[in-house]
Amino acid sequence: MPGTELFGYEEKKEVNDVLETGVLFRYGHDAQRNNQWKARDFEAEVKKITGAKFAHAVSSGSTAVACALAGAGIGAGDEVIVPPFTFIASVEAVLFAGALPVFAEVDETLCLSADGIRKAVTPKTKAVLLVHMCGGMANMDEILKVCKEHNLVLVEDAGQAFAASYKGTSVGLFGKTGCYSFDFFKIATAGEGGVLVTNDEQAYHHAETYSDHGHDHIGNNRGMENHPIIGFNFRISEVHAAIGAVQTRRVPHIREVNRKNKKFLTDALSKTPGIGFATIVDPEGDSATFLNLLMPDTETAKRTVEALNANGIGGFNYWFTNMYHFINQWDHLKDLKVAAKLTINVLGAPQDYKNLHLPKSQDVVGRLISFGIRVTWTPEQLNALAEGISKSVNQALSTVHA
Ligand SMILES: *Cc1c(COP(=O)(O)O)cnc(C)c1O
Repeated sequence: MPGTELFGYEEKKEVNDVLETGVLFRYGHDAQRNNQWKARDFEAEVKKITGAKFAHAVSSGSTAVACALAGAGIGAGDEVIVPPFTFIASVEAVLFAGALPVFAEVDETLCLSADGIRKAVTPKTKAVLLVHMCGGMANMDEILKVCKEHNLVLVEDAGQAFAASYKGTSVGLFGKTGCYSFDFFKIATAGEGGVLVTNDEQAYHHAETYSDHGHDHIGNNRGMENHPIIGFNFRISEVHAAIGAVQTRRVPHIREVNRKNKKFLTDALSKTPGIGFATIVDPEGDSATFLNLLMPDTETAKRTVEALNANGIGGFNYWFTNMYHFINQWDHLKDLKVAAKLTINVLGAPQDYKNLHLPKSQDVVGRLISFGIRVTWTPEQLNALAEGISKSVNQALSTVHA
């Protein structure tokens, strides 16, 4: 989690700017705020890195997905194709929008595949919520093609892929709306925070209005604003935004070091028999926050994780641990367990969630072992890690074949 590894003077200084004025609110209060507009700064930094025309900071990556769906006009009863491998937030956002998640297959990119989407389309399918997983990117040429074929709205959850791109375009900007997370575990952190991006002016206005109870933010006088739509409070505070802005400025450096560290490990491990890698469709665009190994089979992956643990190396599998990123760990969803009824409880699930047939996703996620790339690794630590992974894989292979 590189953002939190580089945390220092600048973060403290910008938080202090906010504390000096006492204006913790992102709108208005012009006289007191001494020209400090941290949410706007955060948005400007995100626009600089991604090239987005519009960016809007909110309270979390999860609420950014909610705003992205609202901005794209996704709501009650709409079927939305989602991956079974993502942080649960993506699926929750669809449910809370009143929409109905339909699971489709992921492939070795760790993201939804065009083929998977094609097979999951029904006459009721309205949108695809594409999640760019583990720092990488989906195969966008193929995904855009299938969305066009079936007239599907594309929304991107790039919660784990800020600063990743595909053929020169930032992930998050291929669909109607997209979003990033800046929680404590991402490439840059605001403590808690998220940012919605889009090149579509109307989608932007819908999303930013939605994120603040429908206030239209025209003029700068809160008592005088209009409220064109119903919304909710997904606002970010100036303190979080201040941290997010500083951290986002650090991202080009973090990404450069990540890529170097990941390349070192990839080169070293390519020589070890049995180790494969998740597909990076555009290696030039990798945010390189994760090293993602694909083992030959699930059993080898399981034994490798055991050996890694025994050797004190780190590395995790999303299937055998309770990482909460794969559908095999979402029994609450399969049973439609909720605190209070959602649209899906009224309309019913669009698929038989308990008996989904997702062999490809199961195979890929079962074989996957991920390592968070650290920006502060020394050459000695990198060497030791490469050797530790090799050794653990060799131990696992020898026990599988024993
Ligand atoms: C982290 C994450 C989120 C949620 O972000 P929060 O800021 O923790 O709410 C959503 N989607 C994906 C893919 C994520 O990894």
